[in-house]
Amino acid sequence: MSKAKSYAALSATTPLAPFSFERRALRADDVNIDILYCGVCHSDIHVAESDWGPSNYPIVPGHEIVGKVTEVGSKVSKYKVGDIVGVGCMVDSCQHCSHCAADLEQYCDNGFVGTYGFNDLIDGTLTYGGYSDHIVVREKFVLSIPETLALSKAAPLLCAGITTYSPLRHHGVKAGDKVGVLGMGGLGHMGVKFAKAFGAEVTIFTRSQSKIAEAKKQGADHVIVSTDEAQMQAAAMTFDYLLDTIPVQHDLNPYLNCLKVDGTHILVGLIEPMEPAVHAANLVMKRRILTGSLIGGIAETQEMLDFCAQHSIECDAEMIDIQDINHAYQRMKKGDVKYRFIIDMKSLKN
Ligand code: NDP
Ligand code: ZN
Repeated sequence: MSKAKSYAALSATTPLAPFSFERRALRADDVNIDILYCGVCHSDIHVAESDWGPSNYPIVPGHEIVGKVTEVGSKVSKYKVGDIVGVGCMVDSCQHCSHCAADLEQYCDNGFVGTYGFNDLIDGTLTYGGYSDHIVVREKFVLSIPETLALSKAAPLLCAGITTYSPLRHHGVKAGDKVGVLGMGGLGHMGVKFAKAFGAEVTIFTRSQSKIAEAKKQGADHVIVSTDEAQMQAAAMTFDYLLDTIPVQHDLNPYLNCLKVDGTHILVGLIEPMEPAVHAANLVMKRRILTGSLIGGIAETQEMLDFCAQHSIECDAEMIDIQDINHAYQRMKKGDVKYRFIIDMKSLKN
């Protein structure tokens, strides 16, 4: 066992605060990682505040982890001390169901083990995430960070990156497709970069006037201000795909209306319950598809990291100290983030 320093939420209504706990002793197939950077995902806020039902407190959030290997178990073959590695949203799964066999651990029939707020499959202890100084993770769920990626900006790829890469790949987005990205936050801005890299013509839908100029810098071809009804009407029937990263309840109908016949609306934001209702006619009359997508498997996450290295794709980030985390949460709730907060874990020593 090793003592870990972290920041945790002790309840849905208390701000994150310093918290100490024990990490498990290294198992034969475990890797011990000193955490250098951790991205701040909107899911961290959802779970810290029990937006998706009561969470298992204490919650140490953080599933966009980059760090350095400090120790490896006796059966670890892929990593050695000193390697720069990443950990995303999952730290284990059953490894024997059909989905695990197909490298789709996120859809494990027996439920994957999330990086925080879940129970370890072997000893049942609660998992604690990346807002901490180190983490112990099964080798199979550790990613290799390519050398050419800027270390300080790679962390958000582990969730924001894979969550947008995976559905765009799965649906076969290609040159000439018209893709709209809804919400210009952590996930949204990565969605723009991937859709562009796959050759699509990309439009950002944002409420924030202040993001329009930057949206173009991100590589977007067009921007639609989603609160402007005339702009939304003008976009009717023009998109092949919409990637929806909005983290709160919103009316899908005006967006569905923007899809062509056979167009696909992909939800990655988890909005429960989904209100107001989707009008069946918006799907039926144009054979449109409404679907969702959950992160990505471990092999695909490695593929995405390697793709980012090859294509010089990186996250646009604002570095913060862990002591600023509650303020960062407030800013994210207002959509005021450009475009991912990354915690410099050195600050945990302050
Ligand atoms: P961010 O907070 O970084 O970005 C969300 C963006 O959505 C904002 O920047 C804003 O963009 C827009 N937005 C925010 N509030 C509203 C609102 N009230 N109405 C319309 N638009 C709004 O969040 P993330 O990108 O980190 O996460 C997005 C969602 O994806 C979250 O719900 C998260 O839990 C979920 N998620 C899902 C995963 C999956 O596997 N499916 C994995 C990871 C996250 P703008 O200012 O441009 O309007
Ligand atoms: Zn996330």
